[in-house]
This record gives sequence, structure tokens and C-alpha cells, in this order.
Amino acid sequence: MTSDKNEPVLPRGSIIGIFGGGQLGRMLSLAAARLGYKTHIYCPDENCPASQFAWKHTIADYDDNAALTAFAKKVDVVTYEFENIPTDSVITTAALTPVFPPIEALYTAQDRLNEKTFISEKAGVPVAPFQPVENEFDAKRAFKVLGGKCVIKTRRMGYDGKGQVIASSETEALEGKKSLGKVSCIAEAFIPFNREVSVICARGTSGETKSYPLIENIHQHHILHKSVCPAPSDNGKARELALQILTALDYVGVLAVEFFELEDGSYLVNEIAPRVHNSGHWTQDAGCVDQFELHIRAITGWPLGNLQPRHAIEMTNLLGEDINQFEALGEDPDLRVHFYGKSEAKPGRKMGHINRILS
Ligand code: AMP
Repeated sequence: MTSDKNEPVLPRGSIIGIFGGGQLGRMLSLAAARLGYKTHIYCPDENCPASQFAWKHTIADYDDNAALTAFAKKVDVVTYEFENIPTDSVITTAALTPVFPPIEALYTAQDRLNEKTFISEKAGVPVAPFQPVENEFDAKRAFKVLGGKCVIKTRRMGYDGKGQVIASSETEALEGKKSLGKVSCIAEAFIPFNREVSVICARGTSGETKSYPLIENIHQHHILHKSVCPAPSDNGKARELALQILTALDYVGVLAVEFFELEDGSYLVNEIAPRVHNSGHWTQDAGCVDQFELHIRAITGWPLGNLQPRHAIEMTNLLGEDINQFEALGEDPDLRVHFYGKSEAKPGRKMGHINRILS
């Protein structure tokens, strides 16, 4: 496929390859099937949630070159549902099949230093002041340069608050870096934000861009708890900034942008996810094109469609044993239940979500 405006839609029956077999891959597979596509999951876990709905499943490690090449030859386009796939594996695949979102987006989102540098310098969108931190001496220096309380985070593989510490003194910064181990880190100024919001937006192969209304997110223990859309207030600025990032990345697919909203109504980007996102799950029951279908539309050359929700919705994550107490709510007329088909309800594990239609 190319970015040519007249490019026909990827023909029905084509095969979409997806790196990753979690719940996002599962919901992408369901959406792809609705549009007449087959999905082929690449995931080392034999019993992954996506394999229950995918047409095919390659069970192999992400650095297995022979498996990667065979996979790329069998599919018509490749996408991914998590951002920690080795970029080399994606490059191997991209030599044989188009990959969307572009590898540059993956490279940017995998590393917090690349991410913050790209967003502030290339996209011209504000982020929290930051400093690279390689060792304990750097951590002390960063604390001073940032002018006080800061958050030290590993550059790679951090999620849901894992791999980060808050430091309120030079000594805490030094000790905090020590506790994170011998890995490259970044220190960010601690932002006393008003609230956390996100924007889910997309860019199609034709260059068409669109976004859903602003989403307000409530976290518990650093894990997303609830998302509400539309957010109770929206000055429109976050959506503009998200579209700016989409364009700067020459992006194709769904992109999630998480922001801190400050007291004065301005925004700082916290992070981006080059994929469908937990804060966009409410779209499934909002009466518009949902984020999973949106991603499939974007990468296969369809028009993006209608992203204007017909309902206000609140999404709540079901973690661990939460999945059991919500079974009784099957009768609630305003509630839609989504389970991920995971067998073991470990504490903190994302097992499903519920969407409550508010109006
Ligand atoms: P992250 O893994 O970067 O998304 O961070 C997880 C959560 O930690 C965020 O959702 C915020 O609630 C909080 N957090 C992260 N970075 C900062 C910061 N620079 N200032 C204040 N809170 C932060």
C-alpha cells in the first residue's frame, strides 16, 4: 500500500498481521473480522487472549528471524498492539510487508528520552522539563537543574507506574536512581496537574486525520481505573496538540496521547502510545466507529468514519478478582461487559472492562 489518495481499500479477505496477542489484539481481531479481514497474531504465548479470535497464530519469540520472515510473507499488512516489540523485528518484517504505524513512531514511543525529545523539538508540543539520567551523579544533578521534586523513570519498558520513583531531595534522587538499577533513565519535573486526560486520534493512509472528544482519566495505584468521555470540560487545545504529533510522525493508525492538564488550562504531554489504548475502550459502546475498527480502517485505507459518540460513557477496568463481582451486572440495561478470556485472575491483571452509558 502507498499513501496515494486513490489507493483502493485493502481487499476484503486480506490478512492483517498483528504483533502481540493481548486484549488489544483480541479486540482488533474482532473489529477486523467485522470489516471482512482475517488476522494473524504473532505472539509467543500459546493461550493469549487474541488467539481465541484470530484466524492464525504464530507462536514464536519476537527475535526469531525465520518465524518473522515466514509471518511477513503470509500477511498483507502488519500492525502491533504493544510498543515493546524489538524494532529490529519490525524492520525485518517491514522489508517484506507494509508496517503501520511507522517504525519511527515505535522507536519514539519505546524510549522516554526519544519520546520527550521528539514531542518537544520535532512536534513543537510541550512536555514536562526533563533531563537524561545515566547514573546516580546525574540523578543528583537533574534534581538541581529541574528545580525540586522530580520523577525518575526508566527510559524503556516502564508502564502502569512500574520503573519510576518520586524524589523530593538530592539524596532521594540518588537513592531512587540506585533502586531502578543500572539502566538508562530520565528525570522529569514533578507536575502538580489538575487532571489527566487523553486524546485518541487517527490518521489514514490518505492523510485524513480525526479524533474523538477529550477523555478524562482517573488512575488508582498508577493503573487506569476509569475513563469518561466526553470529559466534563474541554477547551479544545489537547486535541489540536495531538493532531500536531500525528502529523509530525507522518503517522498511519490510531495514536493515543496522554496529557497533564495544568491549572491555567494548558497541557503537557505525558506519553504517547502508537496503538489502540485502554482509555479508548468506551468507544465500543458509544454508537460511533470504535477505536479498534478505527485502527483497522486507518491501516487498510478505509475512510476513518464517524468518531462522534452518541452517548456519554464511563469505562471502568476490571482488575483481578473484579471480574467475578461484575458478573451479576449482566442485567443492567446501561452496562456493557467486555471480558478478555484470560484464565487466571491475578491481582492487578486487566481481566476486562465495563462501559456504563451515562446519557
Ligand atoms: P507514566 O508511566 O509515565 O504514564 O506515569 C504513571 C502515572 O504517574 C501518571 O499517570 C501520573 O499520574 C504520574 N506521573 C508520571 N509522571 C509524572 C510527572 N512528571 N509529574 C507528576 N505525576 C507524574
